[in-house]
Amino acid sequence: MRDAVGAADRLQASVAAAVDEALDEAAVPPGAIHVTWVGALDVAACPARYRGQGEAGWGFPGWSPATAAGAIGRAALDLHLAEAGPAPEHLPSPVEAVRRWVRAAGAAGAPGVAGWVGDLRAEGDRATLAASAAAAGRWLAGFVRVLGWPLPAATALLNVARDGAPAPKWWPRRGSPVSVGSGADARIGRITGAGGHTLVVHRAAAPDDGDIVRRAAVEAAAGALVHRVSPASVVVTAGDTGERARLEVDEALLASGGEMLVSVVRQRVVATGQGFDPADAVPSPHCRWCEHAGACPPGRAWLAGPGRWRGGLPALVPDGVADTRPR
Ligand code: SF4
Repeated sequence: MRDAVGAADRLQASVAAAVDEALDEAAVPPGAIHVTWVGALDVAACPARYRGQGEAGWGFPGWSPATAAGAIGRAALDLHLAEAGPAPEHLPSPVEAVRRWVRAAGAAGAPGVAGWVGDLRAEGDRATLAASAAAAGRWLAGFVRVLGWPLPAATALLNVARDGAPAPKWWPRRGSPVSVGSGADARIGRITGAGGHTLVVHRAAAPDDGDIVRRAAVEAAAGALVHRVSPASVVVTAGDTGERARLEVDEALLASGGEMLVSVVRQRVVATGQGFDPADAVPSPHCRWCEHAGACPPGRAWLAGPGRWRGGLPALVPDGVADTRPR
């Protein structure tokens, strides 16, 4: 990316214009819309399912051992780096690093994941604490496994709450109901006008490979919007397989990521005017867990066809779907 600042400026202008256009179509104001990779990938997978989720499915689902794993893992590693430093002999023990952070975490009611952990401690919910610590330890172990220790020079953890500071966001304009957040876990290299930094997206486990390019595109665009400089590359890693995929960022990747972010706003605007509508349903393995499958002809057809096979074995046929398995 030769003109990292100019590319970010152009992306900001095009996303802001597209967001304005989408909001102008709204018959009623859609309310505040915070766009992250979660919604962008949901819309890309199946717009009909995303719209049908409604308010309950569009927002943050709340903390749980699964949703807190990355936040606790990043915070624990951040604390370890602050206390022990990044020297080779200070390779973190995931269990001990997480345990130290949990002991130091905020009181009940504090903001973010620290407050949730404080609530669990106050309630004496040791089972949820243990499950969360185990998931966070796996996240941290995988992160260090894939990136190596010492971490690459000039690595900075992102989305770590320090001193209660909120995560940075981007707004298309002052007063806009739309905001964009970056979900990258770390940055390698400083953010300068030259734009040579890399954003790291770490997953504890690898889903199917199709998500890698989409996730990288969304994070490249969200990172360029939030930091106002385009990253040079996005590295997507997985702790269980050790995979490490690097995607170089160019204008095409930024544009596709920006389009995915804007699509969330478009779908939220459409959702204000209609309930679930399978007109643009896109069948995929998501159909297996979709609560609209019973009212979605494309999803039912997929479940009764290719979707009945799972890992080479026929899957159980969901309620309301014709059983076409060979007898
Ligand atoms: S059943 Fe499948 S195709 Fe239909 S809305 Fe749900 S995810 Fe989309």
